[in-house]
Amino acid sequence: MAKKTIEDINVFGKRCLVRVDFNVPVKGGVITDETRIQGALPTIKYLMNQGAKVILCSHLGRPFNICNEVIDRKKIKPADADKTDDQLREETIKKCSLKIVADRLNELLDGKVTWADDVIGEKAEAAVNACKNGECVLLENLRFYKEETKNDKGFCEKLARFADVYVNDAFGTAHRAHASTAGVVQYGFVKDAVCGYLIQKELEVIGGALENPARPFVAMLGGAKVSDKIGVINNLLEKVDTLIVGGGMAYTFFAAQGKTVGDSLCEVDKIDLAKELIAKAKDKGVNFLLPVDTVVSNAFDNNADSKVVEGNIPEGWMGMDIGPKTRDLFTNALKDAKTVIWNGPMGVFEMPNFAVGTKTVAAALADIDAITIIGGGDSAAAVTQLGYAAKMTHISTGGGASLELMEGLVLPGCDCLNDK
Ligand code: AMP
Repeated sequence: MAKKTIEDINVFGKRCLVRVDFNVPVKGGVITDETRIQGALPTIKYLMNQGAKVILCSHLGRPFNICNEVIDRKKIKPADADKTDDQLREETIKKCSLKIVADRLNELLDGKVTWADDVIGEKAEAAVNACKNGECVLLENLRFYKEETKNDKGFCEKLARFADVYVNDAFGTAHRAHASTAGVVQYGFVKDAVCGYLIQKELEVIGGALENPARPFVAMLGGAKVSDKIGVINNLLEKVDTLIVGGGMAYTFFAAQGKTVGDSLCEVDKIDLAKELIAKAKDKGVNFLLPVDTVVSNAFDNNADSKVVEGNIPEGWMGMDIGPKTRDLFTNALKDAKTVIWNGPMGVFEMPNFAVGTKTVAAALADIDAITIIGGGDSAAAVTQLGYAAKMTHISTGGGASLELMEGLVLPGCDCLNDK
């Protein structure tokens, strides 16, 4: 698991191709949240201060239009039906260009950032060649080339011409084997490959918890579906002392225990698997906690009639959140934990009336003296919105990637880096 970092190699005078995550939300030509840009700064600044030529690359949005010679009209919104392929491409380029990030980055880095206006080819080469030690170039959106996600060898070779050293600091795409996330190294075009500070921390904290956790080690999983997290539950059952399951996925386990679930989310084809997981927990001596009471409603609506039921969920009602007894049960289980991994909300937290369970466990996590690790996505958003972010040990910058790490899978974007 231990990979070389930017501090383990000499980068002075070298061109460092740095895969960052600049996939920021943009509305009406304005970056509405620059957390990801700020998150990338420590790695970029370190490399610039060491006298490297920093060549940054990222994707932004989903510019699928541009890559296809013929645009798939079925994917076009009705409002755009009258537009020509060229018009659609032009709009996508405008919407997904990283130029807006280059401008902001240039402000943050005292005017030392050049905009390349392409990913490979003459314009990009000119920008890279003009880059001096301690300066920075931002390439255009990698996904303007379909070769990026296809991990095309020829594209990797061209991209790798900008790299004496490869640095990966985009954890959010580290579970993908794309040209910029792994291919340039996998094909042998760059030999020196290290991680930046963001990936270093992800591997240290999540990897460390999985390999050698301070105990008791508690994992808390929620969210919509068991099927998304089977691998994670399976792997964590080998490691944790307590496994807490809430959210929509709990009801498949209810069904496995022979309880009725009414109109709740329930994956019928996963009930046998849920039974196996319950049996595995017993076999491994893992304390497996499921909700003992449930906030149910008679419609999937914040203002629907709701009540709390224990055990069975009656016909015509659906589970929307964990009930008060379960909130106590889960909070108690967290109290003495020394390591906690959390992924997935305890209920339909987007609706305020069904957000209490998620808020309660987030508050409990903020309160305990333990290593607290929040998977990306919804749980990260919940913790941040509630103002608890600073109280957590680590909030992952990659939802899918952190889940794959917890599942015990190899992430191509990390695997390709040089071992310590
Ligand atoms: P995931 O992406 O799998 O972590 O799932 C997150 C989603 O699960 C959120 O949008 C929640 O609203 C949803 N969710 C959590 N609990 C429930 C529930 N009891 N019923 C329906 N959806 C739920």
